[in-house]
Amino acid sequence: MNDIELKYKTEIAKYLKSTPDDIFLYWKGRVALFAILKAMDIQKDNEVILPAFTCVVVPNAIKYLGAKPIYVDIDATTYNFDLNQLRSKITERTKVIICQNTFGLSSNVEKVVAIAKENNIKTIEDCTHGFGGTYQGKPNGSYCDAAFYSTQWNKPYSTGVGGFALVTDQNLKAKLEKVNADLEPATFKDKISLSTLYFVREKILTDRRYWRMVKLYRWLSKHKLVQGSSSGTEIESTEMPSHYFKGMSTTQMKKGITNLAKLGEMIPLRKANAAIYSEYLKSKGKTFVPTEQFQDHSFLKYPFLVKERETVMRIAEENKIPLGEWFCSPIHPVMEHFDQWDFCECEFPVATKYSSEMLNLPTDVKDTAPVLAFLDKIDGFLL
Ligand SMILES: *Cc1c(COP(=O)(O)O)cnc(C)c1O
Repeated sequence: MNDIELKYKTEIAKYLKSTPDDIFLYWKGRVALFAILKAMDIQKDNEVILPAFTCVVVPNAIKYLGAKPIYVDIDATTYNFDLNQLRSKITERTKVIICQNTFGLSSNVEKVVAIAKENNIKTIEDCTHGFGGTYQGKPNGSYCDAAFYSTQWNKPYSTGVGGFALVTDQNLKAKLEKVNADLEPATFKDKISLSTLYFVREKILTDRRYWRMVKLYRWLSKHKLVQGSSSGTEIESTEMPSHYFKGMSTTQMKKGITNLAKLGEMIPLRKANAAIYSEYLKSKGKTFVPTEQFQDHSFLKYPFLVKERETVMRIAEENKIPLGEWFCSPIHPVMEHFDQWDFCECEFPVATKYSSEMLNLPTDVKDTAPVLAFLDKIDGFLL
């Protein structure tokens, strides 16, 4: 481990009340998940349970190993597992349950872990939204056998793209180290496209320019001029892209050290803004995140529901509000050929309904007044 790697892992470990030896770094969060699944010896015909309100790269990692994703619908108030349905989906082929920290809330993770233990099943937390927050006093991601985190530019803090795993079990750690021996190093070209991403994000992107920049970013990413989050292959098929299993570069670690230092002030800001949004939506009689969920929620985004989402997005664009579209599909951002991921929308009414109605408010803004003014404008669309 070189000095920069050790420093970065030490900073991460402080948040997780862990040690640098328990942290494993990767090019992206999805690669961390893939490595954990491999270290857990997931293979053909094994079943892996996950919520039907996820990002396509999660079932992809399962499919790349020849295993089968088994989805569970979400609960209408927490957007996490419906626990009764979770129990009903367990079979003798179930090897792993992946629970998810959704928007910063690891709701019911202790109950999921208890159900898994009763059935001798391993657990992984998709903690890509939850780094830095806690659940019932413990750091997010520390309840399961392993957790993976993302530092992609929309996540709690950014290294452009990036991710890591938290594993404390010695046995699993030894297996993970073996798996990691096959990681490819980032290439010179990767590092250039990362630097372009940093430049675009930090020097040019401001809220006022958000929509113009999102379009520019998508164009640059499509033409492979900047490091994109997902390649076309990952959204269109379940084939593993070439050079997928890649380690983290020193460029990312340095960025991580700098940006992680700013996270401390972000978490209270996100919570305070979420409280303002909740109060507003509640006063209008609209769907809001209930106060009893606030204690543990770190609110990476604030979910709200609308009808005619396209129109609302257009109004947001006109008003320069950086609105999020998570999850626009139960396996975001896939919009067709769901059967490739062994998914049928017909089976998951809550996730399907929410993925057609959900948008997210930014929680990292210094001033919520423009966001509230925007909500006033779309009053007729709010559900
Ligand atoms: C962002 C995200 C991932 C993947 O993280 P990457 O670092 O982009 O690979 C996985 N699951 C969820 C729910 C996410 O939002």
